Amino acid sequence: MRISYRASVRILAILALGPALASAQGRKQDMRPRVPPPSITDYKPRSTLVVPEHKVPRAKFPVVDIHGHPPALTSESAIRGVVSAMDKINVRVMVQASPSSGDRLKTQIAAVKAAGVADRFVFFASINLAGVGPGSGAQIAAQLEEDAKAGAVGIGEIMKGFGLTTRKADNTRLAMDDPELDIVWQTAGKLGIPVFIHTGDPAEFFQPHDYKNERWLEMALFENRRFFDRSRFPSFEDLMAERDRLIARHPNTKWIIAHLSWYANDLGKLGRLFDRFPNVYGELGAILYDLGRQPRFAREFFIKYQDRLMFGKDAFTPDEYPYYWRVFETADDYFDYYRDYHAFWKLYGINLPDEVLRKVYYANALKVIPRMPVAGFPEK
Ligand SMILES: [Zn+2]
Repeated sequence: MRISYRASVRILAILALGPALASAQGRKQDMRPRVPPPSITDYKPRSTLVVPEHKVPRAKFPVVDIHGHPPALTSESAIRGVVSAMDKINVRVMVQASPSSGDRLKTQIAAVKAAGVADRFVFFASINLAGVGPGSGAQIAAQLEEDAKAGAVGIGEIMKGFGLTTRKADNTRLAMDDPELDIVWQTAGKLGIPVFIHTGDPAEFFQPHDYKNERWLEMALFENRRFFDRSRFPSFEDLMAERDRLIARHPNTKWIIAHLSWYANDLGKLGRLFDRFPNVYGELGAILYDLGRQPRFAREFFIKYQDRLMFGKDAFTPDEYPYYWRVFETADDYFDYYRDYHAFWKLYGINLPDEVLRKVYYANALKVIPRMPVAGFPEK
């Protein structure tokens, strides 16, 4: 019998390693756990990684939070509570982006003035887009003029129902680029105030709710975040295309796109949006999990588009802000995010240069939003 050199080495190896090798080869066929696996909500492994940590309780520079949803700023005690929370994390000015128009706007403006903190809050005017029909555009625009006169410095937040679920008077879906509303966006342009608009939700919410879906858990928790039924909802792509047509119709209006248009998982796409429309800015709320998982590319992106990005937080939960500061300001590795149903992964710091940090934290907001209080911000 003739045995090749290769085969003889193999036989020797099997003889020497014996049963260990044989069973290892056997296991290769069947990698199923020998004990019942935990559910994804139970499996929370402790990380054994030990690396330097730099917690950032206060932002390095004063911040404008352009996406604030504090409680209604009507009583002195509510206002004081919000201001003391802002001071701890170094948020200098908060934009009230919750519904404020007419008396609701005037009452809050008067209350912050009476509390002696008029330089800590500015107000965006809400607009009522329900039941739009002939003549609604002119009516909304007239209310906007009045709200701007009372002190509003933007429109917003326009909530995600616009384009997704909001109906016209005739019960058809209100398209974002409906010509009836042209006069509203033109009026914002004329007044020089930005439109802060939230469109859609993460693209995965528009995909089938299956085990390949990155947002499976969140969709399982919240029925109202499932938009995959095409008989009820437009696709993510159609929705964003409609939003883009709206912007294209109004090149003289400044648009601040909430949540980076949910393109934070595809920053190249966001860059193309910025390249196409010089009047578009992006707000950073609730997409930290996407920036923090691509620290190198996100850093490059922030440097390239440093004049187009503005900090905003959305939910007013003061102890969550430091996660943002840590991602933006440090080069820390592999640390926890605050909400496990957004992301099952860890974050990394993107270590922004000071010059970029200043723009993202306050300078871009002071430039784009008119009549901003400037006290408390560095001169440079
Ligand atoms: Zn919001």
